[in-house]
Parts: sequence; C-alpha cells; structure tokens
Amino acid sequence: MALAKTLWLIWDGASYALVVDLLQRGALPHLQRVVARGRLAAMAPPGPNSETPPGLMTLFTGCEEADHGTPGFTGPLPSSQQHSVLESVSGFDSRWLRRPPVWVEAAAARQTVSLVCTAFAPDPLHRVPYPWPYPTASYCCVIDGYNQEIARPQLVRLRVGTTTLTMAEQTYKVNRGKQGYTVYSPTGAAMPLVPFQQPEDLLPLWLDRTAGIGTYVAWLRAAGMPESDWLWCSAVHQFASYPPQPWPHDLGPFLGAGIGWFFSRGVIGKGPRLAVSTLQALTCRVARFFGEMAVQALAHHPADLMLFYQPAIDEISHQMLRDALADWPYGAAAQAMLAVHQEVDHQLGRLLDGLEDDDTLLISSDHGHEPIHRAIRPNILLRHAGLLTLKGDKIDLAHTHAVFHSSGWVLVNRTDRAGGIVPRGEYEAILQEVEQCLDAAVDPTTGKPMGLRHSRSLWQGDAPAPGDLFVWAPPHMELRPYLFGPVCTPPEIGGNHQTSLHDSPYLQALLAGCGPGLHDALLPTRNSGVATLIRRALRLATTATLGILAPSPGGRGQG
Ligand SMILES: [Zn+2]
Repeated sequence: MALAKTLWLIWDGASYALVVDLLQRGALPHLQRVVARGRLAAMAPPGPNSETPPGLMTLFTGCEEADHGTPGFTGPLPSSQQHSVLESVSGFDSRWLRRPPVWVEAAAARQTVSLVCTAFAPDPLHRVPYPWPYPTASYCCVIDGYNQEIARPQLVRLRVGTTTLTMAEQTYKVNRGKQGYTVYSPTGAAMPLVPFQQPEDLLPLWLDRTAGIGTYVAWLRAAGMPESDWLWCSAVHQFASYPPQPWPHDLGPFLGAGIGWFFSRGVIGKGPRLAVSTLQALTCRVARFFGEMAVQALAHHPADLMLFYQPAIDEISHQMLRDALADWPYGAAAQAMLAVHQEVDHQLGRLLDGLEDDDTLLISSDHGHEPIHRAIRPNILLRHAGLLTLKGDKIDLAHTHAVFHSSGWVLVNRTDRAGGIVPRGEYEAILQEVEQCLDAAVDPTTGKPMGLRHSRSLWQGDAPAPGDLFVWAPPHMELRPYLFGPVCTPPEIGGNHQTSLHDSPYLQALLAGCGPGLHDALLPTRNSGVATLIRRALRLATTATLGILAPSPGGRGQG
C-alpha cells in the first residue's frame, strides 16, 4: 500500500497530567519524538459517566454520551414489560452502537481498515450481528480476544503434593518437586514453572493451539508467615481474527488483562498479599503483548485506518494511582506506574520504526484516573431509608422502590417495568424521597455529611436516559452498588474514573499525534472531538456519509 495511513493508538486510562509529568522527566522518549514533530493536548472525558465503554464509544463515534447512549461498564435495559429494573447488559456489547464508529464511515467511503483488539469492532467470528454495514473487502483485518473469553483468570494455592487445576474444562496437575513445580497437561506433557519475577517469566500454555485458545501461567510467591506459593492463570480466550490469520497464534495466547483484580483483593485482605513488583511485571508483559500485536498487524495488514488498543496503563493506574501520587515519583507504587508507562512508550518506539513519513499517528486515551481514598455504597442508604428491600441475599422487587445501578444511575422501580411497583402517580414522590435520602446521608465514622450529589438533568441527548437520577460522590470517593456491609468503606482500588463531574487534574484524557493529517488541525478539548481529527486525516466527508449509515435492521435492541 503506497497511500498514507492513519494510525490510531488507544492508550486506555492514560492521564494527561501524569504523562506530561513523565515527559518532563524525560521518561518517555518515543512519545517525546511524536510530540516534538506534532502536538499534545488534554481532553475532557465524556460524562456524566466516564468509564471505559462510554469513553471508547465517545472516541470512536465522535458523539457525546447522551447521543451514543452507552452509560457505563454496564447499562440498565430500557424500560419495558420484559425487563425488570435489575437487568443490565455489558457496556462493551456492540449492540449498544447507535451511531457509527468512524471506521464504519471509512469503510463506506471504500477505505481500508484494520482493527486490533478493540471494543465495538465487528465480531470476527460473525456470531454477533454487526448493527452497521460490514463490507468485508474493506476490513483488512479485525482481531479480537476480549469477546471470546472461555474461562476467567484464577489464582490457585499450590499444595505440597499435587494441586489439580481446571482450565477451560481440561484438568491439569501441578506437582511439587525438590526444585519447584511442574505443570502436567491431560496428555502428560510437562512444563516446569519458574518463580515469576520479570515479564519474561510468564509462561504461555496452549490449550488448543489450532483453535487459538490458550492461557498464561505464573508461579507467584505471596508474602506472609509462612510465605505461600500460588499459580496465576490468565483468562482463557479464543483468539479470533477476520480473515483468519495464523500469525497471532505465534505470539502466544491472548493476554488481555493482568493480575490487577487479584492484587487489590490481596491488599484488602481477601487473598494472598502479592508484591507490587509482581503486578508491575505482569502489567508490563501485557503492555508488551499489545505492542507486539500492533507491530505485527502493521507489518501484515497495513490499511488506510489502523486502530490499536493498549490496556496496560489503565490496569496499573486502577491499582497504584493513590499510592503512586503519595510518593511520586520514587515510591514503589510510583515506580510500578513509571515502568508500565515506559514499556508502553518502548512499544510505541517499535511502532514508529514501521511508520512512513506521510503517515499520521494519533494517540488518545478514553479518560485519565483520579486517586481513590474511600468508597460509598448508595444501595445501603436506600435500604436504611426503606426504599430498597432484600429477600435473602437478593433485591426483593415487590418491596423495592429504587435501586442504585453501578453506572451511577438510580432507577425507580416503576410499574412500566417487569415486577415494578411504583405507579406513574407516585414516581415524583419516590424520586424526591431518594434525593432526600442521599442529601441526608452522613458518614457514620465522622458524623459529617457525605456530600453525595445528584441530578435529574445530566442527560441532554437523543439516546434514552439510562435511569432517573445520576448520583456522584465527592472527589476521590467512588460509588459501589453492594447491598451489604457498611455505607462507607476503605477503597478497593487506588484509582478510578467513574465520572467526569469530579474536579481532579488526573482525570483529563491524553491526546498526542504527528503527521500530515494533523497539520493545521484544531485540537479538540473533549474526547468527542478526536473522531473529527480521524475523519480529517482520512479526508472523509463529515456529513455526507453519515446520512446513509443507519443501523442495519435487526441489529439494534438491547435484549
Ligand atoms: Zn478506559
């Protein structure tokens, strides 16, 4: 392909403020090369919710949240007699697509597209119908792992004798010998484990190589008296690409997420306490994997528009941001954040080596993070106010008036939903009761007002509102939908990005880029403006193509 390409890197969770700090310290030399040749800017993430699905959807479609309609990691189902107020779907579900991503416009204009490991792309296996026209000739390559998860990641305690382990319905045995541990597959193949200390120590294990299914295993040591041995297995994914490609299999199994969730469980005392260096090494390995994917995809499937996803910065920020900022930049947590940023930068350098002079490069994040110091559980407040009732460990819909949903929205249990009990005439009174309950909330440990805020009017767009009332906490606090336990708890994680309504400097998203497609371009101040830059770089007509791109019949609808 002789024509100029547009490369779009998504650095999930990269904070503009942190990246600028690291640039000033000279820690990101390859990004520095990009900025020296091009541009750097901060962007406001979408709102009111700024979790990854609305963040990515905003970048990809160029629409604000209330127009594309993706309200968070999960979205309540629209009001109907088929669904109760408790039902929701993943915010990553491509059926959320109400507006075309910019690559749909590019394909409609007969440009070529390669999409590497991103959400909202067409399903390479065609199991899920795409709500937009999908001219296969235009898609050089679509690679996905995230939507084909076969088994969740696990952390297994290693015993003195033999530990039995089930992964994707196959049984493996781990034997302890004099020197260490050995994993035996069902066919008897043996793989010795090495203690996990650096990214190279993560061992790929194919469960079904021809089907592209595999996992990674790592032997971890947890601190304590006595110290204990654990086996971490990454999530098991099927690696899918369209058209089918053998080269991703040569890179090893899909490595979609690191050990972050297990790490934070250990920190809050519900699992083994893992070292920060373990989290750092695994997350760097994730960064390297996605960097390698990008380099290989650029070599194998050059296209007019190429999109690459990189999850590592988001993962380390969720775990480390609070501790990192407390001792920036020299503490152990800060060093872990730095190492992951540097690995991502190193991978950027490898990609830059494959770029032509007339190519345009854009790097954007979907949101930054804010340090989290405390968590609040609004459903406990609703319970105390008699607005939410439990039966056993579940919500009793027959006696529940309102529910806080993890996306930040409170939903009134109206009679126009399955199992609803609040008639139209009582809706206003119930909503006022919810507002009063939130306003009156007091932190039991300090006796001071909790400072919860809420609004009925934060959804000014043409997508249906996800709920009745959006609730957000004061800065550095996060909201959790738990039904049990205290109202206020210590934080489960170190950084989060639930809402853009918080005034935190680290929440701003990153935009950087260089190349002729950016020449003289006005840089956006919001994430929703990036798609316009991509359209400009691709020389797409901005309004002419949009009109013909209605979702295809039958593709829409959440349930
Ligand atoms: Zn994200």
